[in-house]
Amino acid sequence: MSWYTEQWSEDCKFSVGYEKHLHSEKSPFQQIDFYEGKEFGTFFTLDGLMMVNEKDEFIYHDMIVHPAFATNPDIKKVLVIGGGDGGTAREVLRYPGVEHVVLAEIDEQVFRLCQQYLPITAAGVEEDARMELAFGDGLAYVQNAPDASFDLILVDSTDPVSVGEGLFTTAFYKECYRVLNDKGILINQHESPYFSEYAENMKKARTKIKQIFPVARVYQYHMPTYPSGHWLFGFASKSLDPLKDADADVWNAIGLKTKYYNTDLHVGAFALPTYVQEALDSE
Ligand code: SAM
Repeated sequence: MSWYTEQWSEDCKFSVGYEKHLHSEKSPFQQIDFYEGKEFGTFFTLDGLMMVNEKDEFIYHDMIVHPAFATNPDIKKVLVIGGGDGGTAREVLRYPGVEHVVLAEIDEQVFRLCQQYLPITAAGVEEDARMELAFGDGLAYVQNAPDASFDLILVDSTDPVSVGEGLFTTAFYKECYRVLNDKGILINQHESPYFSEYAENMKKARTKIKQIFPVARVYQYHMPTYPSGHWLFGFASKSLDPLKDADADVWNAIGLKTKYYNTDLHVGAFALPTYVQEALDSE
């Protein structure tokens, strides 16, 4: 067995054993690696950071998608930015009411390699007639999209460095506000409160989003393979509140089986630990 290791902070590392290094290449955008191990199954990394693995991907993909649909079950038009592994689109496509999903992923090679090595997230996504693949920069995509053209934007991005940087800017959030309709919801990868570098990113994202959206909340989930295991999504909307407007009975009546998300957890996820709430409020 060999070890994949990534740096979580200056003096903290995380390692996962693997049996096979399935693939390694440098795309025009980032270093892409796929591994196969026992504990987490097949997993892939971008620039030396864990992105998706077979064992805990359900946590991330449940939590990026379902809270928005529980708040507005009438979502029809969805923009996924990043998300090249297909897992976010997979969950969105489970809703029969969804009519059109655009995947704006900058790196087509991530999408193609996930089709080959990670069918758990990628299988069937491209074949769904409601899908539109728009490979390119997510910021450029929203800049060119018409006003009020989406019900939901899901930002399934890497961290705010390199290609992901533009997806954490005020200019990007303003464009998201413009392309969302009156009930529009923006869910974004909101980093982590624990290690200082990630916590700084969390605070910066919060400051920018709450200047633009009248509803700007943060919710948490537990992700074993991301730094510290404690991660956040941002929930921003022009008008809908994720607690007041979510109707548990309506969502449960849709009948989706989920392994992590449920409507009790939906309420609890918005209750943040004191140190996290204080850090967010300090901005
Ligand atoms: N779940 C992961 C996480 O939070 O670590 C992220 C999944 S990974 C598939 C994120 C994707 O965002 C990558 O495939 C990357 O290529 C894409 N991405 C990064 N910056 C982007 C940009 N500016 N526009 C579109 N996609 C971008």
